[in-house]
Amino acid sequence: MIKSNSALLVVDMQNDFLPGGALGVVEADMIIPRVNEYVRLFEEHPHPIFYTRDWHPPETTHFVTQGGPWPPHCVQGTWGAAFHPDMHIPQEAIILSKGMDPHEDAYSGFHARDDQGHYLEELLLKYEVMHVYVCGLALDYCVKWSCIDAANKGFHMYPLIDATRAVNVKIHDAELAVEEIVRVGGTLLTIEHLREPDGESVLPAGTLDL
Ligand SMILES: [Zn+2]
Repeated sequence: MIKSNSALLVVDMQNDFLPGGALGVVEADMIIPRVNEYVRLFEEHPHPIFYTRDWHPPETTHFVTQGGPWPPHCVQGTWGAAFHPDMHIPQEAIILSKGMDPHEDAYSGFHARDDQGHYLEELLLKYEVMHVYVCGLALDYCVKWSCIDAANKGFHMYPLIDATRAVNVKIHDAELAVEEIVRVGGTLLTIEHLREPDGESVLPAGTLDL
């Protein structure tokens, strides 16, 4: 069951983070149907739904070409920056962009803002959100930092563990990310917990297939 005063945060489901993109996460396309399923559940109630996107200028210290960690990706207005065409994006959904400053990495969705300049936190407060459910890409970067920031800012936070995938630059990054999210107070959920009337519980991290 989805609690009242909830919102869904869908992180960076953009072409460049999916197979075939500049920073394609292995098997990330497999989570698209599940992410869409979550979106429909939140749409039915309705609860606010936020989509973040990496939205970089062509030149930024975030890219390896200027000394940063990543190959160029999600450059504003390019194919790579577009949401994957199979993503279901309701008309009422709120799109938030991040990483526009040429000197910022902006991993967390809490660095993202809408086209009026309102940051995610402001919008969550405006909609009286207390519970933030997080899915999307990538678990060990933008999903993790969004979850940590949500907890630090006082929201209850629920990573949707069947609707995310990790980059795994190092082999155990996915598990480490999950451990960190749980340590700051995250409750791991899968779709069954939201479909059932009172189905909410913590999964032991060892049973996850990431
Ligand atoms: Zn980026």
